[in-house]
Amino acid sequence: MAMKTGSVLVSGASIAGLTMAYWMNHYGYDVTIVEIGHQPRRGGTPIDVRGEALDCARRMGILDAIKKAKLPTKGLKFMNEQNELQGTMLVEQIGAITPDDTEIRRDDLVDILYAKVRNSVNYKFANRITQLEQNAEYVNVSFEDKTFGTYDFVIGADGIHSGVRKLTFGKEEQFTHFLNFYFSVFTVDGSLGEQNYAHMYNTPNNMATVYFYNKDSADTLLAFRASNQITFDRYNIEQQKQIVIDAFEGIGWKLPQLLEELKVADTFYLDQGCQIKMPTWTSGRVALIGDAGYAPAFPTGMGSTLAIHGASILADAIAECGNHQTAFEIYNETFRPIVEKLQATVYDGISFVLPPTIDKIYARNKMGE
Ligand SMILES: Cc1cc2nc3c(=O)[nH]c(=O)nc-3n(C[C@H](O)[C@H](O)[C@H](O)COP(=O)(O)OP(=O)(O)OC[C@H]3O[C@@H](n4cnc5c(N)ncnc54)[C@H](O)[C@@H]3O)c2cc1C
Repeated sequence: MAMKTGSVLVSGASIAGLTMAYWMNHYGYDVTIVEIGHQPRRGGTPIDVRGEALDCARRMGILDAIKKAKLPTKGLKFMNEQNELQGTMLVEQIGAITPDDTEIRRDDLVDILYAKVRNSVNYKFANRITQLEQNAEYVNVSFEDKTFGTYDFVIGADGIHSGVRKLTFGKEEQFTHFLNFYFSVFTVDGSLGEQNYAHMYNTPNNMATVYFYNKDSADTLLAFRASNQITFDRYNIEQQKQIVIDAFEGIGWKLPQLLEELKVADTFYLDQGCQIKMPTWTSGRVALIGDAGYAPAFPTGMGSTLAIHGASILADAIAECGNHQTAFEIYNETFRPIVEKLQATVYDGISFVLPPTIDKIYARNKMGE
């Protein structure tokens, strides 16, 4: 291995960024993470760690911790408006790649990764990159808090609305492929769920799912189809909540209670369903990983798996090659077929979570039989 040390700045302290930080620190680099939040961002419904990402986790020494945090999920129950059971899919029937695939709370995965790098890398929380200039030797970075830094590489792991991508590759719209739906995630009273099951209710344009596992609160996912993009202020939570309330107005099942809970929810997240597609994930000394470069959208269930796998491939390539050009080429070439194959599965995923007609909802509800 052609080990060569230097400094790396990672933007984003979530699944992709913390994985990258772990590996670059492991390979002897001086690592700094800049994160817009005051700490790693929390929230979200359970996520899956699958296939290759499990092998990466084993190499990182966190596989046991991930398995320990595995949720006792039994499956998915499809309900009708009167909350009567219409069908069940057991966890083994829901698109597993290997029997080891693990469903885990997003917060638990973030905590496990953060614990691995908490004391070994530098942090700039509540901060972000405002300017980024690179030459053949290094990257000069200005931060929002008016400080500056010089790094050998900058890695954008800052999610769908990546700041590094905007500064290096240009406008977000060029890379965003809208999938004609929106989704929102928040927590509700646990009594609205059933232990170790997810309950899903659909109407032709809307879906509500409540996940409940051994705690006081349940995670809720509301998704709705939209033919056009909706403009909203990403920092105006009240405005975003109203968009969801309007989209679910008049819908039965547990929606009246869920919407009351939404109004007072502390953790709330709304975004468009979209994929990020780019012709290349690297430019000079800057590279993108995770959702920033190739968000697959939640109906694939593969966002975290791709983030961990991609970060590991890139870090290994940097450690193995004597120069970043070759490493970045290897990353672009080896990971692209994996990303493209996976992103193509999103339409099946959308048909599953948001069947567009009553007949299709009925057929989906019976899929587990
Ligand atoms: C709060 C939250 C809830 C989520 N809930 C779900 C869910 O329920 N289901 C699901 O499938 N996926 C969810 N996701 C997305 C999921 O985490 C990713 O698809 C996947 O894990 C890949 O992770 P990532 O690290 O690439 O991106 P993300 O997990 O999106 O992380 C991006 C990180 O970058 C930070 N950041 C953003 N902009 C900047 C900036 N300009 N400068 C510095 N830091 C920045 C963010 O605060 C965040 O910590 C959620 C993401 C977040 C942030």
